[in-house]
Parts: sequence; structure tokens; C-alpha cells
Amino acid sequence: MDLVLNFIRFYLIFLAVKVFINSLFKIKVVTPREVEEEVNQSSTDRFPEANIKEVAVEMVLDEICNTYVPKNKAYQVVRDDATHYFCSWECREKFIEGNMN
Ligand SMILES: [Zn+2]
Repeated sequence: MDLVLNFIRFYLIFLAVKVFINSLFKIKVVTPREVEEEVNQSSTDRFPEANIKEVAVEMVLDEICNTYVPKNKAYQVVRDDATHYFCSWECREKFIEGNMN
């Protein structure tokens, strides 16, 4: 019986470690979407106090959906020596597709 209890204990620790690693991994994967949500929130937020934090970062225009994105978080495409910035990978893809046609 002790063996079974030990096994259950080991399994619970294993699960806890797995959940912990998963949560660490999720943070990395989710980041681009979180950035997109932040940008969407800030564009609808008209209160100047809420934007103070972003003043320090240069804002760049996303030509696809006409929102401003913090330069350090934007997706980039360099075309004809000009750099274009996008809020999301989807907008970046749309820009590339639009230029192909
Ligand atoms: Zn966009």
C-alpha cells in the first residue's frame, strides 16, 4: 500500500511541475496577442493619464488597420528601403499579400 501512496504522491508532484512549466510556456506564446490587445485598448482609451506610460516609446502607424503600435513591439517589413510596422502578424501578412497583387 505504501508503494501506491508513494506513486500517487510522485504523480501529484509531477502534475504540479507540469502545470508550472505549462504556465511558463504559455506566457511566452501568448505575448504577441497580449500586445495586440494592449494596442486595441490604448486606441480606444481617450484619457491622457492612461497613455503617459506609452509616451516614452515611439509610436508607429499600422497601415493595414490604422492603429498606432509601440515601435519596440511592432512587427516589421522592410520594403524599398522603407520600414513598415504592424500591430500583428495578420496585418503583416495582409500587407505582404496586398503588395504581391
Ligand atoms: Zn494591425
